[in-house]
Amino acid sequence: MSSLAATKTKRRDPPKATPGRPALLLDWYDRHRRVLPWRPPAGERADPYRVWLSEIMLQQTGVKTVGPYFLKFVTRWPDVAALGRASLDDVLRMWAGLGYYSRARNLHACAVAVLRDHGGVFPDTEEGLRALPGIGPYTAAAISAIAFDRRTMPVDGNIERVVSRLFAVEEPLPQAKPLIQQLAATLLGPGDEKSRAGDSAQALMDLGSSICTPKKPACVLCPLNDDCLTLTRGDQETFPRKAPKKSGTLRRGAAFIVTRGDELLVRTRAEKGLLGGMTEVPGSDWLAGHDDKAALQQAPALTGIAKWHRKAGVVTHVFTHFPLELVIYTAKVAARTRPPEGMRWVPIATLAGEALPNVMRKAIAHGLDI
Ligand code: SF4
Repeated sequence: MSSLAATKTKRRDPPKATPGRPALLLDWYDRHRRVLPWRPPAGERADPYRVWLSEIMLQQTGVKTVGPYFLKFVTRWPDVAALGRASLDDVLRMWAGLGYYSRARNLHACAVAVLRDHGGVFPDTEEGLRALPGIGPYTAAAISAIAFDRRTMPVDGNIERVVSRLFAVEEPLPQAKPLIQQLAATLLGPGDEKSRAGDSAQALMDLGSSICTPKKPACVLCPLNDDCLTLTRGDQETFPRKAPKKSGTLRRGAAFIVTRGDELLVRTRAEKGLLGGMTEVPGSDWLAGHDDKAALQQAPALTGIAKWHRKAGVVTHVFTHFPLELVIYTAKVAARTRPPEGMRWVPIATLAGEALPNVMRKAIAHGLDI
């Protein structure tokens, strides 16, 4: 058995590269690569704009959800210069429903910076890319490898899973990330002009998503199954090892669904912070231990509301750092009732065009029974 099988938690030395793996991987990729909206046909160079856009959208969101959004974006803004000239409001509207809205704000800021500082052309080095808004180490490596064929390995969740199984990495995530990064780099082809770094990275991503899946990996179809340590042991599904999760404290609050005929009362959230700049219905603070009565104190001040109606049930939503429970209060006001300061009426029929985050879509659907 390889010495790697006995990898201990503190060990960080990478093993020697196994010469056959990079070639096996590329050969498999040439026959089984996924067709994705942002991927050019085999042999064609990838467009840095499309690689960047897809990588930002794919952070925390799956391929199936991203596909239609990606196509909408590239139809409306076919290159980074066009996106850089768009308004932030338009970008947020197009992004609505994808979640994690700081990505949309950074996306716009990055396009503006590429247009303003680089003449509408993405820098072709990891260092240059990392200097741009919203591009971290992973995204910079992904664009460098896929669009510019730089010899670097971006490690996403799929690659973490494949590598941790292949080498039986016992150290739990996230501490194991540096070791997994070193091991993943051994799967790149030789360092010459034919290294095909982008294809190696995409091969591992595809392998992780279609064969080396979290549950029931199809090892019999895997091009690396002759040399996989956890397959030999039969405990593949227990990798990658993970440290126990800490879930955030539950927060509670209220959302107020006020209608004036076929219009709904909304406002825009502050630019900074969670869901910055997005549209929402008026609501209370979201606090641990908030009770319904305290939340009701923060109802919008409108003339003509004798009583708020509390809808049965709650709306639940999970943010990265905390779960949320919202109670929903509804009220109807007379025609010509003026909105409170900082709020506005929007026709319910045009809500799809508003930059509404998912939590607000759920609250409105619950409040309006739609
Ligand atoms: S043999 Fe199985 S566990 Fe090992 S890398 Fe391939 S699919 Fe994953």
